[in-house]
Amino acid sequence: MPRPIQAFVHTDALRHNLTRMRTATPDARMWAVVKANAYGHGLERVFEGLRAADGFALLDLDEAQRVRSLGWRGPVLLLEGVFEARDLELCSRLDLWHTVHCDEQIDMLSRHKTQVPHRIFLKMNSGMNRLGFTPTRFRSAWTRLNQLPQVDEISLITHFSDADGTKGIAAQMAVFTETTQDLPGERSTCNSAGLLRHGSDASVAADWVRPGIALYGSAPDFPERNIAQWNLQPTMSLRSRIIATQDLQAGDTVGYGSAFKAEAPMRIGVVACGYADGYPRHCPTGTPVLVQGVRTRTLGRVSMDMLAVDLSPCDATGGYGSEVTLWGKASAACGSAVLPIDEVAQAAGTVGYELMCAVSARVGFTQD
Ligand SMILES: *Cc1c(COP(=O)(O)O)cnc(C)c1O
Repeated sequence: MPRPIQAFVHTDALRHNLTRMRTATPDARMWAVVKANAYGHGLERVFEGLRAADGFALLDLDEAQRVRSLGWRGPVLLLEGVFEARDLELCSRLDLWHTVHCDEQIDMLSRHKTQVPHRIFLKMNSGMNRLGFTPTRFRSAWTRLNQLPQVDEISLITHFSDADGTKGIAAQMAVFTETTQDLPGERSTCNSAGLLRHGSDASVAADWVRPGIALYGSAPDFPERNIAQWNLQPTMSLRSRIIATQDLQAGDTVGYGSAFKAEAPMRIGVVACGYADGYPRHCPTGTPVLVQGVRTRTLGRVSMDMLAVDLSPCDATGGYGSEVTLWGKASAACGSAVLPIDEVAQAAGTVGYELMCAVSARVGFTQD
């Protein structure tokens, strides 16, 4: 029998979250962002749950090929565009729409031989200073692109740095709107945070929106809001089992570095899950975890293959073989209790995105 750790991808929850995100801007078309192997879920495993999207947005050409192999004939957008000239051949062959964010990409396009002109998303750097043309250079980039026979329609795209925080999107939105006001073409602005927090603002309305993280059941602005408040459901559950128990006396310690010390007699469970599975080593004592759907806490340091949990709240239900939910949803047999990935991420000093993407190759996945 394999080690009992397993990750589950919940198709119903993906479907629910997609529908939920549509309500934020009902008139916009929606890219489901599936970069990084669908935020660690596996492209092939999320496809069914997200196929009601209007398109798939991603970064790797290999992933674009996989989406086409799944039979998807609709739009596919490369969010960083091409990395070298020959990538454009694949764009032509697979009908990939691609972002253009720098002069070098325009140069490559101008030398590309194609029968079919490409659909381009021209990216503006409206303040994030990652990718895109600054407002002063944006129009000349547009003009140059517009003259190329390799180019069909040009859409306009920008990305917000602070949609989840207090700074907000107003300044970037103003720059984008002003610079593009007399340019034709469809617009694309919001990620998950932009959509959830600012989507009801008519001035933010765009032709295309680009949610990622919210589709996967993580709140982009946690802890200000959680998934229950946003009406989102976990799409990934990481579950394992208790493979040993120990009865501690006052003064006994647990794990490497004796980082946890019992104050009184207590029973603990040892879980087949460690940092080599992608569970963050930085989670301290007290990180929430579910045993048979009952909320309890981790104890001491996370080791490579194991971690310890407090069985005090679990009475007789928690013991050898008990189901442990590290994040996501407990099984139906354990009441389907939810432990949002955001709570575990917060304990580790990171975000849900990183945990989803980091589940390691030795963990088997099941789609349900
Ligand atoms: C990753 C990404 C998104 C999705 O962001 P979320 O915060 O996951 O919703 C949208 N747009 C671009 C350009 C991205 O790179």
